[in-house]
Amino acid sequence: MSQKDTFACPVYKKCGGCQILHMDYQSQLNFKRGQAAKLLKPYGKLEEMIGMEQPVHYRHKVHAVFGRDRKGNIISGVYKEGTHQIVPVEDCLLENEKADAVIQTVRKLLKSFKIKTYDEDTGYGLLRHLLVRVGYHTGQIMVVLVLGSPIMPSKNNFVKALRREHPEITTVVVNVNDKRTSMVLGEKEQVIYGPGYIEDKLCGLTFKISPKSFYQVNPCMAQKLYEKAIEYAGISGRETVLDAYCGTGTIGMVAALKAKKVIGVELNRDAVRDAITGAKKNGLSNIRFYQADAGDFMEEIAESGERVDVVFMDPPRSGSSEKFLTSLIKLKPEKIIYISCNPETLARDLHLLCKKGYQMKKGAAIDMFPFTDDIEAVCMLSKKP
Ligand code: SAH
Repeated sequence: MSQKDTFACPVYKKCGGCQILHMDYQSQLNFKRGQAAKLLKPYGKLEEMIGMEQPVHYRHKVHAVFGRDRKGNIISGVYKEGTHQIVPVEDCLLENEKADAVIQTVRKLLKSFKIKTYDEDTGYGLLRHLLVRVGYHTGQIMVVLVLGSPIMPSKNNFVKALRREHPEITTVVVNVNDKRTSMVLGEKEQVIYGPGYIEDKLCGLTFKISPKSFYQVNPCMAQKLYEKAIEYAGISGRETVLDAYCGTGTIGMVAALKAKKVIGVELNRDAVRDAITGAKKNGLSNIRFYQADAGDFMEEIAESGERVDVVFMDPPRSGSSEKFLTSLIKLKPEKIIYISCNPETLARDLHLLCKKGYQMKKGAAIDMFPFTDDIEAVCMLSKKP
């Protein structure tokens, strides 16, 4: 695939999932690197942007909302941006092709199993959303059926029919979301086939992924991101490392292969559980995970007087909290590796860190989300001498 290739999609304007599909891939990379470089200019320079070799079908977590069109036909796709109107999607340039095929099969099966799609206005019907996760290296597939009520008729036969067409499906979970909410997943879960999670491999390690755990949607580029972050950390073997906002513990576990000791902290209970299982599976005995708000945890650890040499932090789009950053400054690690999916909040947080004794030494943007205007970046900060 040439970097000059351009792509087309019949629902580009309606769907809102892509913003820069009209640009050839090299122009997308230049555009994003330019945006990130502008925001981070006061703090430091960025290396060449790391792009994808094949920038298509990279999303290994795919979500489809189910409903009916005006004629009453079952449709599945995405909400039109800012609305609850469904734009039907057959196959998407961003989404893993196997995941899209599973969604199409489910749509077909609904009819023969007489399963109704959920109607948001009346609250009547059953299937609201489908979530499909595909392991990048393992090929294992998890299907999550999000239902408006807990009873799924002939669920065993449904699973059988689904697996007949897609034997790669290793687990099927029913998630119940009976609330009038824009959140996709509800609280309650019932595993109806397989172990209730899938596994994937990155950087030579195995990770457990449950329906509600965060796991990077583009695992191919996540591996490149982690490699860059680990390179920036320059771990020699004597360090104590903290992995804050650690999700299923991916970065921390990769660091644990080299560091003396690693501590991971994450708010989501399921993700922490996955992280603990993952560490055991990988035979890592020098890593501990804690379920807590990263800011609270940071405050505690800074006050305890424990020495931490390297902090990886990978907060959500909203960036880190003031509590976290103030305690981080108090903790005084030699290096901070800040991974961010929003360069605006990254720049905001760097502003504070650079005022309080740190300087940005290295940085790179990585294209985790081709065709969209989302930018992922990683920066290394060290203590000013
Ligand atoms: N580093 C991980 C996850 C990054 S996504 C990876 O690469 O896969 C950000 C993570 O921050 C999510 O798992 C989310 O659950 C977690 N999170 C959000 N707010 C948090 C908070 N206040 N304290 C701790 N973790 C939080």
